[in-house]
Amino acid sequence: MKPPSGAPLAPGLYVVSTPIGNLRDLTFRALDVLTAADLVLAEDTRVTAKLLNAYDLSKKVERYDDHAGERVRPKVMALLAEGGRVALVSDAGTPLVSDPGYRLVREAIDAGYAVIPIPGASAALAALAVAGLPTDRFLFAGFTPVKSGPRRAMFEELAGVRSTLVFYETGPRLADSLADMLAVFGPREAAVARELTKLYETVVRGPLDALAVDSRLQGPKGEIVVLVAPGRETAAAPEDADRALTEALARLKPADAASEVAKALGLPRRDLYRRALTLKEEAQIEEGKK
Ligand code: SAM
Repeated sequence: MKPPSGAPLAPGLYVVSTPIGNLRDLTFRALDVLTAADLVLAEDTRVTAKLLNAYDLSKKVERYDDHAGERVRPKVMALLAEGGRVALVSDAGTPLVSDPGYRLVREAIDAGYAVIPIPGASAALAALAVAGLPTDRFLFAGFTPVKSGPRRAMFEELAGVRSTLVFYETGPRLADSLADMLAVFGPREAAVARELTKLYETVVRGPLDALAVDSRLQGPKGEIVVLVAPGRETAAAPEDADRALTEALARLKPADAASEVAKALGLPRRDLYRRALTLKEEAQIEEGKK
């Protein structure tokens, strides 16, 4: 059962998952395909060269990323038309998952060529498997936006989704991102999975308010997946939300009152903000009547 299998490789485009850190996480089948492929397309040829060197493979590797795509795709189509075998890899994990390849796969499908998955590592699934959060339904949301405004807007859009939310994040943005998550989702259960399969692998689990100040997550290093539990199945009753909002509006502006109640009750901040404006307006009308 040791690679390479030596079995002939059928023509087509192979979408090959590669390790997300530990080079031993390459599957035997991925090795078979990389050994036999006529051409390997790589997001970064230097990164892929390291992987191929580790397995003593000397292959023709061509860059394929968002910039090179337009130029390379016609060549790949021509090779597939001749019955060639092309392997697509990215720097880490599964191609097309927050990585290049979508257009190539789409074009190959449209042209009628076989597109074959060679499954393996992906940071999202590796993190989900160890986060300790519900796995029956999850939503992969990709990278969070760089700026706080669009980032909060994204979280607000997702706040009512009854699925575990999975985000890709970078070290330098983690602290700001966790603060925005706390503001929008409240203290939901969450997990931060950093540097999976690597020397400094860390998984920190807990409510968002604890994670936002956890000393193990300080510092700008590492590749990170953040996972957030689904909103509460049994949402607080509307009258509970109204009571909490009315009490908060006596002290705070509607936006701040909405944030405070969102945190306390685990309800979407955007809905609470709208309700806070209505409650305030109703209170003002009542005042006017007196
Ligand atoms: N295609 C890859 C996959 O299947 O996971 C993802 C590529 S995306 C450009 C890179 C992001 O994936 C990183 O910023 C991080 O969010 C996540 N990631 C990649 N490797 C990771 C690792 N070893 N540990 C945690 N997150 C990782």
